[in-house]
Amino acid sequence: MEGSILVINCGSSSLKVALFDDHLNKLASGLAERLGKDDAFATLEGRKESIELAAGAKHRDALNALVKVLQDSGLLDVEPAAIGHRVVHGGETFRQAALIKEDVLDAIKECASLAPLHNPVNMAGIEATTALFPDIPQVAVFDTAFHQTLPEKAFLYAVPLSLYKDWGVRRYGFHGTSHQFMVSEAARMLGKTPATTSIISAHLGNGCSITAIRDGNSVDTSMGLTPLEGLVMGTRSGDVDPGLFDFLANKGVPAREVHRLLNNESGLLGLSGQTNDMRSLCELADHGHEPSRTAIDVFCFRLARYIGAMMASLAHLDALVFTGGIGENSSLVRQKTLGHLVLFGFTIDKELNSHHGSISDGQIEGADSRFRVLVIPTNEELVIAREALASVRPGMVG
Ligand code: ADP
Repeated sequence: MEGSILVINCGSSSLKVALFDDHLNKLASGLAERLGKDDAFATLEGRKESIELAAGAKHRDALNALVKVLQDSGLLDVEPAAIGHRVVHGGETFRQAALIKEDVLDAIKECASLAPLHNPVNMAGIEATTALFPDIPQVAVFDTAFHQTLPEKAFLYAVPLSLYKDWGVRRYGFHGTSHQFMVSEAARMLGKTPATTSIISAHLGNGCSITAIRDGNSVDTSMGLTPLEGLVMGTRSGDVDPGLFDFLANKGVPAREVHRLLNNESGLLGLSGQTNDMRSLCELADHGHEPSRTAIDVFCFRLARYIGAMMASLAHLDALVFTGGIGENSSLVRQKTLGHLVLFGFTIDKELNSHHGSISDGQIEGADSRFRVLVIPTNEELVIAREALASVRPGMVG
C-alpha cells in the first residue's frame, strides 16, 4: 500500500499498531499484550488465531511479529510514508507533534523523569521501527502537547515556585490526542470550526481525564504532573489529600508503597474490592453488591464536581462531550453524573442516553437542557496518523 501511515502505541506491557492509507482509512490494527511475561501474545484484528510470541517477548519482538504479518498479507509491500508514535510526555518542549531527529530523541529522553513508566517504552518503540524502516520519517505525537496552551493560573500548583523553575513541577495534562479529537469532532457535528468551539471533554477509559477547551485550546485539565491527579480511574485514585503521604508514613507505609497503592490498587478497584472494569461493576451493582454501587457513585460525583470546576475556564459552552470506553458505553455513568448538575441547567434525554446517542448523531441532552451533551467515540490512532501525515506532507491534511 503506497503512502500508508503506520501508528505505534507502546504501553508499559502492551503495544498497539494500526495501519492507515493516505486518506486516513484504517487498513489493519493489531495488539500485543503481557509483554515481558511468559504468556505474551499478539493478535491482528480480523484474524482468529493469535500470533505466537516467545515467552518474555519485548516490544521489539512483538513489533517485528506484527509487521511481518502485515508484510505477509501484502499491506506493507511498499514501505509506509510515515510512522507516527504516541509519546506520553513531551514536557514543556513540545507544543505539537515533532519529526523525530537526534535532538527530538534527546528531548524525549530528558522528559523520561516526568514519565518513567511511559517515555522509555515509547523510545523502545521508536528504536524498533527505526531498525525495521531506517529511511522512513517518524513522528512523535505527545499526550501532553495539546495542553501546552494551559494558562499559568491553571498549570501552576500553589507550591514554592522554585519547584516549577528547577524541576518542572506543574500540571501538564494527558490524553491530549483524544481531547483534541473531541473538539474537532464536536465542531464538525455542530457545524462550527474547532477554533470557535468550546467544550468540556470527559475522556473516561481505564485512565480518566477531563479538559476545558476554549475556542479550540485546552485551558484547564484534571491530570497534572503525572496521570494520577483528578478523576477516579480504574485503579488510580485521582485526587487525594497530599497529607496522606505523611499520615501513612507515620503508620509505617513508605512513599513508594503509597505511590503503588494510589496507582494500582485504588480507584474503582480499590473502592469495590472487586474489579477496575466499569461494565462488571455495573453488573455487580445490579445484583446488589453495595461496594460496587459505592464505587460508581464516587466515580460519578467526582466527575460532576470536575465538570463544575471546568466551567470556571469558559466564556460559553457549546457541548459537554463523553468519550472513552466508559464515556461512550455507560448510560448509567452519564445519567448519574448529569443528575448532580441540574443547577447548571444540564438535563439528559433518557431514551437517547440509553442508545448512547446512536439514534441522534451522538446527542443525548434533554429538550430543556441549557447545554448540548454529546457522546463521541474517540480515535487516538487516527489523530496520530493525521499528525504524522501532516508532518511529512504539510498541506495534505485539513
Ligand atoms: P483504555 O483506557 O485502556 O483504552 P477503554 O477506553 O477501552 O480503556 O475503557 C475501558 C473501560 O470502559 C472499562 O472500565 C470498561 O468496563 C468500560 N466499558 C466498556 N464498555 C462498557 C459498557 N458497555 N458499560 C460500561 N462500561 C463499559
